[in-house]
Amino acid sequence: MRHFAVVGSGPGGFYTAEALNKAYGDTARVDVLDRYPVPYGLVRFGVAPDHQSLKAVSKRYDTTADSAGVDFLGNVCVGPDVSIAELLDLYDAVVLAIGAPHDRKLGIAGEDRPEVIGSAAFVGWYNGHPEFAGLAPPLGGSHAAVIGNGNVALDCARILSKTRSELAGGDIVNHALEALEKSPIRTVTILGRRGPLQISMTPKELGELGHLESATPVVDPADFPPVEGDAVLEPGQRKSVSLLREFATSGPDESKETRIVFDFFAKPVAVEDGKVVVERTTLDDAGRAAGTGETYDVPASLVISSIGYSTPPMEGVPYDQRGGKFLNENGKIADRLYCVGWARRGPTGTIGTNRPDGQEVAAQIESAMPPGSSSERKGTGGLKALLATRNVMPTDYDDWRRIEQTETANARPGSPREKFVRVEDWLKALGR
Ligand code: NAP
Repeated sequence: MRHFAVVGSGPGGFYTAEALNKAYGDTARVDVLDRYPVPYGLVRFGVAPDHQSLKAVSKRYDTTADSAGVDFLGNVCVGPDVSIAELLDLYDAVVLAIGAPHDRKLGIAGEDRPEVIGSAAFVGWYNGHPEFAGLAPPLGGSHAAVIGNGNVALDCARILSKTRSELAGGDIVNHALEALEKSPIRTVTILGRRGPLQISMTPKELGELGHLESATPVVDPADFPPVEGDAVLEPGQRKSVSLLREFATSGPDESKETRIVFDFFAKPVAVEDGKVVVERTTLDDAGRAAGTGETYDVPASLVISSIGYSTPPMEGVPYDQRGGKFLNENGKIADRLYCVGWARRGPTGTIGTNRPDGQEVAAQIESAMPPGSSSERKGTGGLKALLATRNVMPTDYDDWRRIEQTETANARPGSPREKFVRVEDWLKALGR
């Protein structure tokens, strides 16, 4: 037998487990570890709650988890509960699929003020992540600002702008639904340090802003260069830019009370009481944002910084400070130690991008230790014995099914589930 540990049960982890299971069949055991008793990582805690069709990919992960040869060990936090060195002793290969759950820093004055919230925290709050369930973002003002021009910035702006009836059918947690319903925020300014042609927003997500019940996008036609320049953009980007152009041409729908304002060439330089101080930029020859020295204020009593994520460093694992990910070569960190997904590439790409990523690392493992070869490593049994000495009780996929049933039963009408937002509540649902 071979024994493999995959750390993290998000898309990267499950696609790797699937590929290893396919390659080795019943000649290897693949343990998928997660610090929480619930699986799916980014799919549960990151994907927007009003994008249920994207979350349906979890069915595929269920199939992997149900395969003979794959086990889920939840409630095991690699680091405090078991070290990487111990895992490498117990398993033939260890694959880190821990994602990129930390917010990158803006590096501007006022960033530590309480009204400045990273998108990982804000998204975690409305998605019921236990670390952020108690966040209480300041939603009491009329203006919010979202910094960044990626899809996560769009998610945050959209969730702030949707009505209760638009949100209630998804799996947004009740505490967020109720707080957002009461919020008087009516202007959400999305700050992009570069221009409309440099956005990192995809057409489907951008297009949604044109169909909101009571919110309307506001785009300034003066921000665009001549349309002929769009020809050099790749097709997806061209589509996104043409959507922005349509928003600019049609102008805001004045019958809608919430405005989602795209403020381009706007680089935040400080957050002060009730406002973001922004410097006007132009594009330099390399396409970077160059400050012009002209500043102005954007009113905001809530500021969401959505400028990308990083992977937390782990003891004993070489780390790329600049890239905010593990130092690796095509997923290989060291002998028998690998990484996949955002921990490998940085926070880019869609959920599906993680599939070839996991397959590639599984293929490397396969070539280093061909199916049919074996080792004396202790695998699952050894890990469970070690954890027992530390009073750590792993949960399995049947436990998750029981939690899932309770979450489904607790759902408000029309919603697929009401998530538990505290580790204790998950364990209580299991009678622990
Ligand atoms: P992202 O796509 O990398 O966007 C980050 C944005 O932050 C960029 O616009 C970047 O501008 C800006 N930025 C970076 N540093 C900044 C600074 N110091 N000041 C101001 N702006 C700054 O990251 P993301 O939005 O977090 O998304 C992560 C990944 O998840 C992406 O691949 C995204 O497509 C994916 N995602 C997909 C979906 C979906 O498919 N529905 C939903 C959410 C996320 P510059 O371009 O100027 O650097």
